[in-house]
Amino acid sequence: MKSQIDYAATPVTELFGCNCFSNAVMREWLPKATFKELLSVQAGERELSLSVADIVADAMKAWAIEKGATHYTHWFHPLTGLTAEKHESFIAPTGDGRVLMEFSGKELIKGEPDASSFPSGGLRATFEARGYTAWDATSPAFLKQDPTGTTLCIPTAFFSYYGHALDKKVPLLRSMDCLDRQAMRILRALGNVSAKRVITTVGPEQEYFLVDKAYFDERPDLMLTGRTVFGSMPAKGQEMEDHYYGAINERVAAYMRDLNYELWKVGVAAKTQHNEVAPNQFELAPIFSTTNVAVDSNQLVMETIKKVAQRHGMEALLHEKPFAGVNGSGKHNNWSMATDDGVNLLEPGENPESNARFLLFITAIVEAVDRYALLLRSSAAIAGNDHRLGANEAPPAIISVFFGEQLCAILDEIVDGKEHSAKGGHTIELGVTSLPRLPIDISDRNRTSPFAFTGNKFEFRMVGSSQSIATPNTYLNTAVAQVLSEFADALERADDKIAAIRDVIRVSYSRHRRVVFNGNGYSDEWVKEAERRLLPNVKATVDALPVLVQKESVELFERHKVMTRAEAESRYLIYLEKYSKQINIEAGVMVDMAKRIVFPAVASFAGSLARDASALAAIGASSAAAEKRAKRLAELSGEIYDETDRLERALLDAQEVDDDLAQAKAYRERVVPLMARLRAGVDAAEKLVERKAWPLPTYEELLFKL
Ligand code: ADP
Ligand code: MG
Repeated sequence: MKSQIDYAATPVTELFGCNCFSNAVMREWLPKATFKELLSVQAGERELSLSVADIVADAMKAWAIEKGATHYTHWFHPLTGLTAEKHESFIAPTGDGRVLMEFSGKELIKGEPDASSFPSGGLRATFEARGYTAWDATSPAFLKQDPTGTTLCIPTAFFSYYGHALDKKVPLLRSMDCLDRQAMRILRALGNVSAKRVITTVGPEQEYFLVDKAYFDERPDLMLTGRTVFGSMPAKGQEMEDHYYGAINERVAAYMRDLNYELWKVGVAAKTQHNEVAPNQFELAPIFSTTNVAVDSNQLVMETIKKVAQRHGMEALLHEKPFAGVNGSGKHNNWSMATDDGVNLLEPGENPESNARFLLFITAIVEAVDRYALLLRSSAAIAGNDHRLGANEAPPAIISVFFGEQLCAILDEIVDGKEHSAKGGHTIELGVTSLPRLPIDISDRNRTSPFAFTGNKFEFRMVGSSQSIATPNTYLNTAVAQVLSEFADALERADDKIAAIRDVIRVSYSRHRRVVFNGNGYSDEWVKEAERRLLPNVKATVDALPVLVQKESVELFERHKVMTRAEAESRYLIYLEKYSKQINIEAGVMVDMAKRIVFPAVASFAGSLARDASALAAIGASSAAAEKRAKRLAELSGEIYDETDRLERALLDAQEVDDDLAQAKAYRERVVPLMARLRAGVDAAEKLVERKAWPLPTYEELLFKL
């Protein structure tokens, strides 16, 4: 399919945000006073009043109906990691057989979707099934428009009758608040009087694979789990690096054009697109925004990537590891902090004050990453990511921070009191003799670090491609807020601020620089070095999740009012259960495919080779080759049979385990290894069975044809 979009007729500037009830649109549709009041609600300066909500709802409805909407939905982020919607039409009967289109402030502010089937981890007893959604006025409403119709979507938070957060949005918003509070204390202590708020900004780079729909439909594993549970690599993989940044093929280019078109309409600023390292792997990056908006946008990006692919006869795979043997997909979570008056706090500035501030903030982040490494690691713990972190073909799961030589040298100098020799490049005078100079260009690159400083932001690269970015950012914000609060305690007390900054940096960095590593994070030496530094290397989801309910984490979350103990515990149980369910499905698909698709094909092809061999022998020809191959395949079919049997039994055993942690462990320790063994047999057989007789689309087709 070709893209039909004509940007000469409809310029991007007109198209962008046409389906988004943005502040620009609200300014047009709302009375001035209402708009102003809404802005102060967005800024957290006051609560939304019902009278304002009524006016906004009315404008929103008129705007949406003008664009063809018949329904609205509160759009929320349950703990499944996906988004949820329950559509309500605007109609209200007039009593005489006609209807009006109505939408009140009350309906805008609060919904009661029930939604009792979503996981709540015990936060909702069944007798108390009520769940509510509340409008997040800081994330714009938008229209979902497709050939089936138009729906007004209102970003909301989802919570229980007793106020427990049932979603990923509420803790995220709370974490943004706590980071704001603590960062503002630092700014005030440093004498900043102009900033009113500190926000966190996020730009997530999204990786995905595309496969042709015809092949996808022939693979139950792709259809049901989003990844191939079998499949052997063809002679060529990604080793030539000819796909990365390569020219985008026309079918994919047409797809990307339509994808951008859809995203731009709803106000998602899709900016960058390119071919990724693995064949048929791609990436999309938007322009960064406030964290909660970035979280909402990223959910829309994932949904739209999938939807538009189908229109183009393809399927998009968001799974972290759809194919063995080539790279998996991640989501690089670019993260920074900025003031409401536009200062990026992670950008080294042009004067001594801003440089001191910069060093202080990045030191706080290093400390936070070191102290809460396990929590950050757990924020990327999902079944799919177990293939990307610490597994066979994957980099280690050690959290470390990359700074580049120059920044490290500067921080080391503060700790060790040694003169640092600026390694090339210019330096900026800090003007304060007690603080060092700062080089102008500190944007060294390192592609192997899980937490890399990239000049004016950090890039957290462990996040999985299918994940909501809400949780990683919630933990990150909270961890950094905690360290900032301690720094603020020290700074607020001090008379000589510059000396205090220096002290704070020295004490903190000397304790936590062990987490800084500039070398090759994918190397074996790093694994050993990290062990010497006592840095944790948690390879599996089941081992990464328990930190969530450990004392230190719960205290952290409670202190900053991000999550209560009950909320943390509920998430722990939900994530464990989600892990078990996913492995259960993947293993189940494997068993089914092995029994009904692979085994019959292998056995039958072995049989046909055996018949060939006897036919050859009958005419006195050499039959040794056919015989050998038949025997080998018969052996493999036996292996496949036995391994399937073993896997099936392990699966039944795991299903019987009651305790959530024990069950997840059973899947990880007993089921997953057997999946690998079954796969080895099947992949070996695939290499020996005649191409036409192999019953599944191959990696060659899935990875190299589009
Ligand atoms: P690179 O990874 O090479 O630095 P970009 O500069 O294009 O690539 O940035 C990648 C992502 O980082 C984009 O989504 C971009 O919007 C985002 N980004 C840039 N600056 C910031 C910032 N200050 N805060 C959060 N994200 C940012
Ligand atoms: Mg990047």
